[in-house]
Amino acid sequence: MEDFSVVLGEISTRTLEVLQIAKHLQGLGPSLSGKKRKEAAQRLQQELEGIAVDVQEAELRAMTLEKDKEAAAHELQQLKQWHQEKGRYEECTTPAGGAAYRLKPDGPGEQSRHYLCATCFLNDKKAVLQPMPTREGCVMLRCHTCGSEVMWEKLRGFMDVYGPEWER
Ligand SMILES: [Zn+2]
Repeated sequence: MEDFSVVLGEISTRTLEVLQIAKHLQGLGPSLSGKKRKEAAQRLQQELEGIAVDVQEAELRAMTLEKDKEAAAHELQQLKQWHQEKGRYEECTTPAGGAAYRLKPDGPGEQSRHYLCATCFLNDKKAVLQPMPTREGCVMLRCHTCGSEVMWEKLRGFMDVYGPEWER
């Protein structure tokens, strides 16, 4: 890919060479014997076929380059968008001490309250944490992209709520 200009240069050089040979032969034309003329014609044809193959390869490379360029432009655009999007979020700590990201309070257009997976966020991926069944008395959130689980909030059990009163 990176030697594309070299390939084009080679094709151009070879084309010039063939042209020069052709001109030379034209000049010699009448003085050449039938056999030599046939040989020269064959050589020219071989050269031209070689050039045709090179041109085809160069076209394929150009197409690949064009696709790569489009893909790179698309990737760049997505990165720019994500960079902008990233700036709208801030790190936060869940009531149970887990790490997540949420929209900054002054973010434009208050969206529904959702939390992003911190692991994915740091890997430049936007993944919304989803609720999952409580575990060991704790409300849990799960990232369906990387599988991370975040403790959201410890549920207050009967003893937490009524304990002191119960013991009185
Ligand atoms: Zn994740």
